[in-house]
Amino acid sequence: MIDVAYVALGSNLGDRAAYLTRARAALAALPNTEVIAESSIEETQPLGPVAQGAYLNQMVALRTSLTPGELLDRLQAIERAEGRTRDVRWGPRTLDLDIVRFEHQRADEPGLRVPHPELPNRDFWQRELSELGVDR
Ligand code: ATP
Ligand code: MG
Ligand code: MG
Repeated sequence: MIDVAYVALGSNLGDRAAYLTRARAALAALPNTEVIAESSIEETQPLGPVAQGAYLNQMVALRTSLTPGELLDRLQAIERAEGRTRDVRWGPRTLDLDIVRFEHQRADEPGLRVPHPELPNRDFWQRELSELGVDR
């Protein structure tokens, strides 16, 4: 099934803009996947309890026939390839790739929730979605 996925990109370590650029290229290279739209890049203050630098965020729309689970595996492989480590929970990271929503599919498993449960709490995701032409 071909669907549209909205993926949030975030970076707050190192050359943040370069990580986003490399992430977009890696997403464009995924099988059966095409990047069809990109939001502008926005700087946001970190959420949560860990003191850390500001993030650069961006959202892309993908036309893909990967399932939500297949896409999550691919996103985590890209994060690892870009040096993402998980030493501090909610801590700084070179690259975070989250599935915000799919147009026609949902997921509700411990390791994968789509739409992302934090969407109602993250103004910048909502702004980016409306920039990509998604209303709600
Ligand atoms: P948040 O998801 O609140 O933005 P985070 O991005 O810092 O937090 P991560 O450490 O990147 O969290 O991921 C933790 C786990 O979240 C992953 O192992 C993944 O299985 C799970 N997860 C559940 N739903 C999603 C989703 N929609 N997109 C990405 N990861 C998800
Ligand atoms: Mg995240
Ligand atoms: Mg994440």
